[in-house]
Amino acid sequence: MANKKIEKLIIIGSGPAGLTAAIYAARGNLNPLVIAGREAGGQLMWTTDVDDYPGFENGVLGPDLMAKMRKQAERFDTRFINEDVISVDLKKKPFVVQSESRQLTTESLIIATGASAMWLGLESEQRLRGRGVSACAVCDGFFFKDKKVIVVGGGDTAMREVNYLSRMCKQVSVVHRRDKLRAQPALQELVKSKKNVDFILNSQLEEVLGQEKVTGVKIKNTQTGKISQLEVDGVFIAIGHKPNTGFLKGELELDEKGYVLVEDEVYTKIPGVYVAGDLADHRYRQAVTAAGAGCKAALNVEEYLQKLELPSEGNGILQ
Ligand code: NAP
Repeated sequence: MANKKIEKLIIIGSGPAGLTAAIYAARGNLNPLVIAGREAGGQLMWTTDVDDYPGFENGVLGPDLMAKMRKQAERFDTRFINEDVISVDLKKKPFVVQSESRQLTTESLIIATGASAMWLGLESEQRLRGRGVSACAVCDGFFFKDKKVIVVGGGDTAMREVNYLSRMCKQVSVVHRRDKLRAQPALQELVKSKKNVDFILNSQLEEVLGQEKVTGVKIKNTQTGKISQLEVDGVFIAIGHKPNTGFLKGELELDEKGYVLVEDEVYTKIPGVYVAGDLADHRYRQAVTAAGAGCKAALNVEEYLQKLELPSEGNGILQ
């Protein structure tokens, strides 16, 4: 459905970047409209303990942190639509945003759609997704109480998953393709101190075994080429993320991996269009850096709109 009213600011995405942008923009009287996505809240919705977000001396659960941010944005009259954005047209002004059920127009845009978990791309991995193969320990770990699982990957995400799963699983084996982990030292130490965690290094997952559910895995040693079989009940893939920017192809410049190319952290080449968070940041990818980028994007929008000297107010909830 098309809507004739022109928004001052639409924010696409509701992770730390999008919600921080909303808080700043709402306090700046821009009456922002957030298209939150069907799975609102972003990656922190799939995270347990967040120990490195400032202000929470005892840590905070990812979903709780996002709920607090959303309530804070709502307190200042941010409006939300829980739909995905299908496409944008940034070639003309006002910019056009097409969500699942409505077409919206806006004077300015902050895109903060983040990134999603990557898969290895094995046929058996995809066939057994939801039947023992997962990319989210917080979502699915419960099903593997007292069972044996593997976690593929050697980064921070993998070690977080290992830590979480080690609290409920009988055994957690880390399968990593090199002999060194990439994760930060503190996380490495934490998981190495667990009695029920072991490491299968220089190894690549070749195949997930099982028909109706996972019964085991085939693992190849990357040095010797030897293939071995391991009986496990669950497989957690934690090999990184890819930016959610498919809908921006042809509208904004993307690099070969799909990250938005920015002029200076939040600036795109199109005046009035800003990005914030993991869709443009393959380096830091932290909740706090995403939140910082959201703040910067909102402050830039304020300045941009002031220069335009918009006569109109942002409009109410759309149909
Ligand atoms: P990452 O740092 O890119 O690590 C991905 C891991 O998966 C690497 O160990 C990589 O191996 C491995 N991998 C990638 N592709 C693979 C493939 N096809 N087959 C087998 N293994 C593969 O990703 P991440 O762990 O998701 O972290 C992303 C960013 O978020 C990082 O900056 C990280 O610091 C941050 N983060 C922070 C926290 C925190 O608690 N502070 C938590 C989560 C994420 P190689 O090592 O051989 O490349």
